Amino acid sequence: MKTVLITGASSGIGKATAIYLAQKGYKVYGAARRIEKLKELAKFGIKPISLDVINDESMVACIDDIIKEAGRIDILVNSAGSGYYGALEDMPLSDAKYQMEVNVFATARMIQLVLPSMRAQKYGKIVNISSVGGKVTLPMGGWYHASKFAVEGLSDALRKEVQSFGIDVVVIEPGGTKSEMTGLGTEYLSKISGSSVYAPLAKGVIKMYADIVKSASDPIVIAKLVQKGIEAKCPKARYVGASGAKLMLFLRKILSDRMFDKMVLNQLK
Ligand code: NDP
Repeated sequence: MKTVLITGASSGIGKATAIYLAQKGYKVYGAARRIEKLKELAKFGIKPISLDVINDESMVACIDDIIKEAGRIDILVNSAGSGYYGALEDMPLSDAKYQMEVNVFATARMIQLVLPSMRAQKYGKIVNISSVGGKVTLPMGGWYHASKFAVEGLSDALRKEVQSFGIDVVVIEPGGTKSEMTGLGTEYLSKISGSSVYAPLAKGVIKMYADIVKSASDPIVIAKLVQKGIEAKCPKARYVGASGAKLMLFLRKILSDRMFDKMVLNQLK
């Protein structure tokens, strides 16, 4: 039985993936700060584990405790994330740094912590939940996109570093998916840029997000992609899914930068 650690398991994509993989027979550790939410997952056989990804001691303890109890971690799914939007000019750098900390440095630190045991066992799968926003951008999303572009770059470099140790690195690029994130992100956007000089654009982005939420996919779609990635003999570097994702990536590919900008700005009017 393979042991999986999933961060961000208290909500959204991480939670759906934890339940789905537990139902498929994996031994699943679900990690997050809200331990009471994780305890609700015990009925699926998921082991709750406390984790704050901006606290190094907490990350070290999480990995140590699992290795002590289960003897190994075969698969790490980095799903903990934060998605705050705001115009670059308006957003305090302290908030931008927090976002980079959760989405990028925590992902990298969790990987650093699991790699020694994965190398020793000559087996491992690292799944990073990026975003279609790791390839395409919306105004007001500068720091979110910067964090996800970073996850894409780190994952591509890492894939080549660890391949010879029997470790695969898989990136998942979700489109609109039902979770807590969109609500929190647009609340913040409204506070930060809702009455600044960027208010008209902010209004457009908030409206677009309301539409994205309406058509958002169930996170099970992403859970199934994670399963595909970890069970493939020779996994693809990237799996794309959920509402709008494939279309956005296709348009980004065929349109010039200028044309893509024009299309996005037209949508926000
Ligand atoms: P949710 O907001 O529903 O879940 C975020 C999870 O991250 C929660 O479980 C939360 O747990 C955890 N988390 C946040 N901060 C910390 C922290 N400091 N320490 C530990 N855990 C933390 O969002 P999603 O499920 O949507 O997001 C999961 C991933 O999917 C993110 O990386 C996101 O960027 C990506 N994504 C989401 C899309 C969407 O449309 N929903 C689209 C594209 C990508 P807790 O608060 O309990 O600690």
